[in-house]
Amino acid sequence: MRTQVAIIGSGPAGLLLGQLLTNAGIDNIILDRVSKDYILGRVRAGVLEEGMVDMLDRAGAGERMHREGLPHDGFSLAFDGRDHRIDLFGLTGRRVMVYGQTELTHDLMDKREASGDSSVYEATNVTPHDFDGAGPYVTYEKDGVTHRIDCDFIAGCDGYHGVSRKSVPESALKSYERIYPFGWLGILAEVPPVSHELIYANHPRGFALCSMRSHTRSRYYIQCALDEKIEDWSDDRFYDELRRRLPAEHAESMVTGPSFEKSIAPLRSFVAEPMRFGKLFLVGDAAHIVPPTGAKGLNLAASDVYYLFDGLLGYYADKSSAGIDAYSERALKRVWRAVRFSWSMTTMLHRFPDTGEFGQKIQEAELDYLVSSKAASTALAENYVGLPY
Ligand SMILES: Cc1cc2nc3c(=O)[nH]c(=O)nc-3n(C[C@H](O)[C@H](O)[C@H](O)COP(=O)(O)OP(=O)(O)OC[C@H]3O[C@@H](n4cnc5c(N)ncnc54)[C@H](O)[C@@H]3O)c2cc1C
Repeated sequence: MRTQVAIIGSGPAGLLLGQLLTNAGIDNIILDRVSKDYILGRVRAGVLEEGMVDMLDRAGAGERMHREGLPHDGFSLAFDGRDHRIDLFGLTGRRVMVYGQTELTHDLMDKREASGDSSVYEATNVTPHDFDGAGPYVTYEKDGVTHRIDCDFIAGCDGYHGVSRKSVPESALKSYERIYPFGWLGILAEVPPVSHELIYANHPRGFALCSMRSHTRSRYYIQCALDEKIEDWSDDRFYDELRRRLPAEHAESMVTGPSFEKSIAPLRSFVAEPMRFGKLFLVGDAAHIVPPTGAKGLNLAASDVYYLFDGLLGYYADKSSAGIDAYSERALKRVWRAVRFSWSMTTMLHRFPDTGEFGQKIQEAELDYLVSSKAASTALAENYVGLPY
């Protein structure tokens, strides 16, 4: 089998890249080790920057998002028992879109199916080869048979645990990492959100986030210790703890109901440099991870795809390798800005085990400055809605 671009990973990065390439007449095949249903069962991100919205439109997969997504003009920072609104639109003229990662993955999969392009799910032992030489190829197994795809380029869109980054010699890779000493315990429940905008709460008992997927579906999180066990957290216990961390008006008005998803996610910042090795490109979570506090993980996958697609288009349409040569540097510049923002939001909003009451007071002073200074609020808003590509 031969294609122009072999894409490993059918998450948002792989599907988005695949669709843009298809629309531009560039052949591609997507391989994923799990099934479509498994991918669609994963509950993850939900806040889209305008750049991501534009990319979905460009891929021709934005119609349902515009119909069902919820544009948000602001969010709330809750601390010291009160809400403080950050007016994203008023400060930047831009907004974000609340639309679940599961939904946009669904839309991209439907679009790909309609385009008739090849995707292979439940492909095992996917392995990239010879990406440092002239003839890159990918092998995989399906139903006991080994297949080989020869290609011009390999896009490693296979997430943090994927095979692409691990295939690069260690000496060619520099990794940067910070592991945070807490996690997020999250639930998804069919209840109306406590507020029509997201609430990020700093509280002496720990961080809390009230998010949503629709007018009837809420996504709530609380900061928890890394050794917490899901089975110790009944829904009632979760809601009680969430209420304690919110201003009274929200705690009193919160509608509760049974959760249908509950999980604990660890928080980390991770970047691998560079993002290109010969003819292999790392894209999205394969190259970097951010804590979800700034809602940047999914959005960074979109900006990586933007730079890589631009480079591949230049290569195929204009026979220029300038864009693919610049990919890693362009992508990393934006990645590090988002890593910084996600780290600063995490640091400002969470309770750290070793900083005590002093740390809490410093955070409150920082938050107080942030909401009382237009310059500081604007800087926060500008990063939250997404820095330009
Ligand atoms: C629990 C959780 C909650 C999150 N919450 C948020 C949030 O609130 N906000 C936010 O912005 N971001 C969030 N993120 C991050 C966001 O979901 C990711 O940044 C986003 O999914 C990145 O997309 P991707 O396509 O790069 O990687 P992924 O979505 O991870 O897709 C990678 C794909 O590659 C496949 N794959 C892996 N290994 C192989 C292999 N060896 N062979 C073939 N295929 C392989 C996987 O099956 C997967 O389908 C969250 C992530 C997690 C895990």
